[in-house]
Amino acid sequence: MFIFAITNMENRKEQKIRTFEQILLQIAGLSVSQTHKVACIAFKKNFSSISSFGYNGTYPGAPINIETGGEEISLEPGLSGFLHAEDNMVSKFHERDAANHIVFVTLSPCRECTIRLVNAGFKEVYWIEDYRHQEHLEIFDRCGVKYGTIDDYVLAQK
Ligand SMILES: [Zn+2]
Repeated sequence: MFIFAITNMENRKEQKIRTFEQILLQIAGLSVSQTHKVACIAFKKNFSSISSFGYNGTYPGAPINIETGGEEISLEPGLSGFLHAEDNMVSKFHERDAANHIVFVTLSPCRECTIRLVNAGFKEVYWIEDYRHQEHLEIFDRCGVKYGTIDDYVLAQK
């Protein structure tokens, strides 16, 4: 009976993780990026509330660039001129307890966003897909931030 109860709690946590992953993907769908739609959310560790979210993009009402057919300056990787999802999430994060939050991102953070998340005080960052550069993630190791894929995070609960 006791073991049954524990198992149920594990399933419940996995259900919450997967639900927040779906919310993350829905938010990514709001991005107007023509190449990579990226989203980031920060929620309380106990899954009680989402404190902030962001997706990659420029500013409201930005003009369409005739050359790219969208709001991007360029469609070359890294040259869109868009702010990253993490940047937009952090700028809208107004809680005082970043360490009591978990950050979910659709794509593992770039070097600048890794530093941005560390400086904002976040201690857990998980993502769906690996970004092409990974070597800077050692910054998380140095700063005691837990990180990895959401799938690994789910497995770690078992
Ligand atoms: Zn970034």
